[in-house]
Amino acid sequence: MEKAYMIGTGIANLAAGIYLIRDGGWTGDQITMYGLEKHGANDGAAVTDYEQEYGNQRLSNNQGFLAKGGRMLNEETYENLWDILRSVPSLDNPGQSVTDDILNFDHAHPTHDVARLMDKKNGIRNNGGADDYYHMQFNNKDRFLLSKLMTMPESKEAKLNDISIEEWFADSPHIFTTNFWYMWETTFAFKKESSAMELRRYMNRMILEFSRINTLEGVTRTPYNQFESIILPMRKYLEDQGVIFINNRKITAFNFKDTPLRDDIIVTGLEYEDVESGETGKIMVDENDLVFDINGAITDSSSMGDLNTPVKENMEYAPSAALWKQATEHFYNLGNPDKFFNDRAQSEWMSFTVTTSNHYLVNEISRITQQEPGNALNTWVDSNNLLSIVVHHQPHFHAQKENETVFWGYFMFPRKNGDYVDKPVIEMTGKEMLQELLGHLAEVDRAADNISEHEQEIMDSVINVIPVYMPYASALFNQRAIGDRPDVVPKNSKNLAFVSQFAEMPFDMVFTEQYSIRAAQKAVYHFMGIPESQMTPVHHYEKDPKVLLKATKTMFR
Ligand SMILES: Cc1cc2nc3c(=O)[nH]c(=O)nc-3n(C[C@H](O)[C@H](O)[C@H](O)COP(=O)(O)OP(=O)(O)OC[C@H]3O[C@@H](n4cnc5c(N)ncnc54)[C@H](O)[C@@H]3O)c2cc1C
Repeated sequence: MEKAYMIGTGIANLAAGIYLIRDGGWTGDQITMYGLEKHGANDGAAVTDYEQEYGNQRLSNNQGFLAKGGRMLNEETYENLWDILRSVPSLDNPGQSVTDDILNFDHAHPTHDVARLMDKKNGIRNNGGADDYYHMQFNNKDRFLLSKLMTMPESKEAKLNDISIEEWFADSPHIFTTNFWYMWETTFAFKKESSAMELRRYMNRMILEFSRINTLEGVTRTPYNQFESIILPMRKYLEDQGVIFINNRKITAFNFKDTPLRDDIIVTGLEYEDVESGETGKIMVDENDLVFDINGAITDSSSMGDLNTPVKENMEYAPSAALWKQATEHFYNLGNPDKFFNDRAQSEWMSFTVTTSNHYLVNEISRITQQEPGNALNTWVDSNNLLSIVVHHQPHFHAQKENETVFWGYFMFPRKNGDYVDKPVIEMTGKEMLQELLGHLAEVDRAADNISEHEQEIMDSVINVIPVYMPYASALFNQRAIGDRPDVVPKNSKNLAFVSQFAEMPFDMVFTEQYSIRAAQKAVYHFMGIPESQMTPVHHYEKDPKVLLKATKTMFR
């Protein structure tokens, strides 16, 4: 009986397992999943759960909840996600699928942001004036360069090899002062240093969102955090089918068959370390077996602190990329992991998760930003370290008590000092991050009874604030050239596929769950002999004249 060995239990491999069973006719017991830790990039759990996971230390305050990321999905362009989750039963609503769960919730709680950008001068930038974030604020040069990027055909993508967004707009740095840039940068976590090649893909794939980027109306949210709303039901489905999950297993090396021309890629073994016991060993892989590797994980090597403790930077090279790198030492067509995992300045950022024992702070945020939880992404345009917050629909965790609230924020530039706490963000405790946020809330609060008068009351309600440093958070946007990412099934590969954000596929955009799931479909269909023409169709809004007309109008808004 053929077997499949899955390296990493992120959404990519969970999806690959489902495709093998659903579309390939495999049985669950043919599949084994090896995970270094359970939460991956689609996370969310009690802090005590994270303490047990690889790379994390015990905290002095381990109360409350943590989600490293705040999540946005998209109904129109996450075609593979909706398709795969339609086959996964809901854990919350028996009889319906996870896709039903999410879309029903989202349709009942549609996003309509009314405080997307804020600053000291305007408060919320929505007063109808020149700064109002309804305006994109482009000048003609910005428009020209953005259009030129967007309309560049895919066949010419190589022209953007190793070009940063900053370089592309070298003749018009004005664009980095526009509402468009602040919204785009913080909605998707692009930096000026990020890849112009990827921005080109986003401008095409996300063209529908361009005209409503100010309200985030295209954002689809899950009822709870990503782990509980998406990953747990996928794991349960696979477990019920007999798939074996082995935790705390770091795969450290591939063994490859030595063939005469040394260009056939055939995995014959996987070396591993049990990260709990330190024991090492080897899994024998038959030539007819399949290996699916998540060759890059953006939450690898992250580190967390707590209310009174700053993070301690974890300098470990991402284990996911270390394995990928070992493969590149054997074959020359498997890409360049260092481009993504050896430049933390390009990729790093920090998030923080706040848990409080009452609703006071979240109500204050609602009052200041004029919207209910679950609606917004708020960015302080003039914050030195580019601060944004997302207040989720409450509760965000099943285990959250009725009186508790949980919300999330992030700083795009962790080496820069705060505006209210005079030290780099990376050195701040959770409490100092919250003080930084309170300072910014106070500066945009126009009420006589300013939030700053209530700092003590707020601090008294805080159960925990967990800062998390993610050295590779935006690594998938690092500058890249054609060939830096391996193909999902590399040329001459007989049994190895890369299913991740760091495998090459045409057209689709990274930093999306959609991308990982599509890579899984591509790999499974290849090995199962299912023609690519039967893959889930994706939309091409960039070819829809109505969408293009709207986008053109937005350019002049
Ligand atoms: C902060 C943040 C915000 C995000 N926001 C969004 C969003 O708004 N919308 C959206 O669509 N997506 C978002 N994403 C991205 C999305 O969640 C991920 O890109 C996607 O889930 C990646 O899934 P994956 O399965 O490829 O990898 P991961 O979820 O990273 O899982 C990979 C797992 O495999 C393990 N692994 C890899 N190699 C090995 C090995 N050799 N041995 C053992 N284990 C290994 C890793 O440690 C990891 O646990 C966000 C991600 C983050 C971190």
